[in-house]
Amino acid sequence: MRRCVFLLLTCVGLLHAFGQSVPAPALIITPVAGNVYAYTTFRQYNGMRASSNSAYVVTPAGVVLLDTPWDPAQFQPLLDSIEARHGQKAVLCIATHAHDDRSAGLGFLASKGVATYSSAYTDSISRQRGEQRAQYHFTRDTVFRLGGQVFQTYYGGKGHAEDNIVVWLPVQRVLYGGCVVKSARSTSLGNTADASLHDWARTLRNIRSRFPRAAFLVPGHGEGFSPDALEHTLSLLEAIKK
Ligand SMILES: [Zn+2]
Repeated sequence: MRRCVFLLLTCVGLLHAFGQSVPAPALIITPVAGNVYAYTTFRQYNGMRASSNSAYVVTPAGVVLLDTPWDPAQFQPLLDSIEARHGQKAVLCIATHAHDDRSAGLGFLASKGVATYSSAYTDSISRQRGEQRAQYHFTRDTVFRLGGQVFQTYYGGKGHAEDNIVVWLPVQRVLYGGCVVKSARSTSLGNTADASLHDWARTLRNIRSRFPRAAFLVPGHGEGFSPDALEHTLSLLEAIKK
């Protein structure tokens, strides 16, 4: 009997070793700083499994989402995970531009009682394209306050998309960059179908001078939360000029 158990454990161990019994996680939640968390979902992009980062902030008055999951299969699991982990419900979502890795879940979230916001600029693009739209829109840079937490939206100009905004969390000194900032390990600018390559660097310099004290930066794709991601994105843009 003991030998059987040993063999069984060995088999299980081997399966783990070859990666056959452990599917890649579909939703990853990573602490960034204090009550700020990044969450990552995945989809196929150019034949490869690609990741997309969003974030959420836990406040005593509920959880604020910065962007929605990219993978629709993770809309509900994200809400469930947040509630199980923090004992709080999502109450508000700010989408940072009109692409499906930022805004695919807006309709779903609204149906679950989450108040959804985007800029009016983003909404006009989403409306034209027949994509998911937020319920409420702001026409200029806006400060949201909820449960002692401050969320400052900022539009620095065109970049990865013409409507891309960032969100500054001054309490934790976290800059939520979204797709206008590539991760510090990125080797390319990613999806540039709607990019304004001519304006992007100026936009990043605007963001840098507006929020020079960022201690953490959440990029739209890729790993790491180093504020160096901003300089790195500038160097990627510099490289394509050559
Ligand atoms: Zn995008």
